[in-house]
Amino acid sequence: MEKSDWQNLGFGYCDTDYNIRCYYRDGAWGELEISSSNIINLHMAATALHYGQEAFEGLKAFKGKDGKTRIFRMKENALRMQSSSDGILMAGFPVEKFMEAVRLVVKMNKRFIPPYESGASLYIRPLLIGTSPEIGVKPASEYLFIVFVMPVGPYFPEGFKPTDLVIMRDYDRTAPLGTGKYKVGGNYAASMNAGKLAKKQGFSAVLYLDSKEKKYIDECGPANFFGIKNNTYITPLSESILPSITNKSLMVLAEEMGLKVEKRKVLYDELPEFEEIGACGTAAVISPIKGIYDVDKDKWFRYGDEPGKWSVKLYNKLRAIQYGDEPDKYHWTDIVE
Ligand SMILES: *Cc1c(COP(=O)(O)O)cnc(C)c1O
Repeated sequence: MEKSDWQNLGFGYCDTDYNIRCYYRDGAWGELEISSSNIINLHMAATALHYGQEAFEGLKAFKGKDGKTRIFRMKENALRMQSSSDGILMAGFPVEKFMEAVRLVVKMNKRFIPPYESGASLYIRPLLIGTSPEIGVKPASEYLFIVFVMPVGPYFPEGFKPTDLVIMRDYDRTAPLGTGKYKVGGNYAASMNAGKLAKKQGFSAVLYLDSKEKKYIDECGPANFFGIKNNTYITPLSESILPSITNKSLMVLAEEMGLKVEKRKVLYDELPEFEEIGACGTAAVISPIKGIYDVDKDKWFRYGDEPGKWSVKLYNKLRAIQYGDEPDKYHWTDIVE
């Protein structure tokens, strides 16, 4: 592929050569299997289909200037998938096996890893589903783990583009003591109506408040929230948000850059005080926010049309580590030769 083709990929499904599968039967995980089919054979009464026994992950591999491929923090994804499995009573996939499967799927599809110059990357999607039939509500006795990959374009092909978020109190993504902290499909199904409405009105995502009191900031649809003020990086502490690995990494880098870091409850009333706002996640690293519109109060919070200086610095720093342009002093990357 030409450089421009890699750049124009966007974020969409495409077939690659191989995926890796592993089956849980009789209380144990089997061997990793390599498949060249994009189809799975699934029982119509599988718990994944009826009762939402499904968890997924998202991570990326990056080709460096040195020709080496780096996978970013995959152990964190392995651990988070275990947490999700525990949360909805699925068999946990072993951490070492997860990392072995990820390394293998990247290696097997190496012709799909975009070149360094393109700014694109290889997106890795692990998936875990309950596969055995149940019609009474209970966890499956059999599970399937799959990991597949696809090349994805740079999130900002023309440089950072700040977008707007919207607050809509008529929708919740998760219950206060529900499954918000797990990366499960059910949370996404629950967010689709609000997400569609937001996009239709030109917003990039919904900014959810806490479902109980609507007093605190939770997170954006598919990304964590952070704000910066008075040289402090502030991100919400909540039982119902997904612990973003990007956010976790940005907190370390923010501290290294001399910012104070606070993980605490963030009041809605604090929104006007922030100098910068960002949504963070694997897809974009940081998506700078220029405005937040509160539908119910017909009120705008504005943060300037240009990305803030700390957001730019944090973004560049994290990307440099991912692509191997800067030393990986925290041992966040795994090199696949
Ligand atoms: C995956 C996800 C994120 C981002 O997590 P990263 O590990 O940074 O990619 C944030 N919020 C939700 C709801 C998610 O599912």
